[in-house]
Amino acid sequence: MAVREIYDLGEIPPLGAVPRYMHASVIRSELYGPPVKSFRLETVEVPPVGRGQVLIMVMAAGINYNGVWAGLGTPADVIAARRRNGDPLDFHIAGSEGSGVVWAVGEGVRGLRVGDHVIVGGVCWDESAADIRMGADPTTSTSQKAWGYELNHGSFAQFTVAAEYQCHRKPDRLTWEEAGCFLAGGSTSYRQLLGWHPHTVQPGDPVLIWGGAGGLGSMAIQITRCFGGRPIAVVSDDAKTDYCLRLGAEGVINRREFDHWGRMPDPADLDAYRAWLGGVRSFGRKIWDVLGDRRSPKIVLEHPGRDTLPTSVYVCDNGGMVVTCAGTSGYNGDLDLRFLWMFQKRLQGSHAANVRQTAAVIDLVAAGRLDPCLSEAYPFADIAEAHQRVYENRHLHGNAAVLVNAPEPGLKSL
Ligand code: NAP
Repeated sequence: MAVREIYDLGEIPPLGAVPRYMHASVIRSELYGPPVKSFRLETVEVPPVGRGQVLIMVMAAGINYNGVWAGLGTPADVIAARRRNGDPLDFHIAGSEGSGVVWAVGEGVRGLRVGDHVIVGGVCWDESAADIRMGADPTTSTSQKAWGYELNHGSFAQFTVAAEYQCHRKPDRLTWEEAGCFLAGGSTSYRQLLGWHPHTVQPGDPVLIWGGAGGLGSMAIQITRCFGGRPIAVVSDDAKTDYCLRLGAEGVINRREFDHWGRMPDPADLDAYRAWLGGVRSFGRKIWDVLGDRRSPKIVLEHPGRDTLPTSVYVCDNGGMVVTCAGTSGYNGDLDLRFLWMFQKRLQGSHAANVRQTAAVIDLVAAGRLDPCLSEAYPFADIAEAHQRVYENRHLHGNAAVLVNAPEPGLKSL
């Protein structure tokens, strides 16, 4: 089989033919900054496939915050961190989710073959790590790393390498861009809502969801409904209300109607504290209005962090849980401890999802019970602009994807 050195984007090589070079969206540390500055199209070598890994020809990739953080060089300088550990590569390819075709199979891979259509999840670990062997959930392992963030060669390139356990069969009903866009938000919110026994969504439970029209939020609304909960979505713009209602939200609150956001004042500053508490209580009353009864959220799905955590802890029901996976607005998460201990609430960190939780979300999407919420499929050349919109919170609702080798939107196979 004659194999060329490189193929154009959208040009499909013969099945299993691996070229030497590929087109990729590359981040370099000298250009760290906002996405329009940090993402550049380049030609680089196709990465080698290790034991237990597969090479995937990427058809579409999901746009999410990991790309923004990688390009900013903060909260972690991912290139410097890898180089400190002996990696010679001086660039980073982001992209923590995607869909594609298995193009080569490494030693020891049993469950995948060249030509399989897959969705790739964004978290990796060392299956032989001591803590995993002792029974730890792999996402809590000290060996756990985010693919396309802490690990190089994510999905924003013609080819990527992924561990076998990261790959799940692509449901036939999904287009490449639908399949590539929902897993980061879907699996993370699934773990937040169903992974922390006994605080799992139960029929009738009110659940407060920040950023209801965002990547996590749009999936969280649907998952909450699927398990019989009552999702209350928060947004910053009334234009997002109908979208959240269509996904199953019981009601939607516009956070712009309140102004107590940000860090909690010192409780010793009585005037400032009283004013803050007034804002929090009126937000809590708004939740009761939405529910039509004086019930508080059993679970609060957190990710904005600094701006919202003090409110989340206050409005959470007695014995309920605030579960957080991020600090988008800042990493100082203030809370008044009195509300935590007196009312026996749980504050839980949650990160990514294990293989079982990831598979469960894909099954729900495959069965048509969750919509992948694709809002937009960008051409590969617009990858920087797509991330810039996320960075500035002016992206469309739901999840967005970028077409990599898929020549046009709407395709479901090669
Ligand atoms: P997204 O699509 O941009 O949605 C986030 C939503 O949060 C926005 O739509 C916005 O909605 C809301 N928001 C932004 N700033 C806010 C603020 N100051 N106060 C309240 N709400 C605010 O992003 P996403 O994909 O859902 O990701 C959200 C965060 O989760 C990111 O930091 C991401 O890195 C993180 N994440 C973590 C994991 C993990 O495994 N740990 C996985 C996925 C995502 P409104 O403006 O309409 O309120």
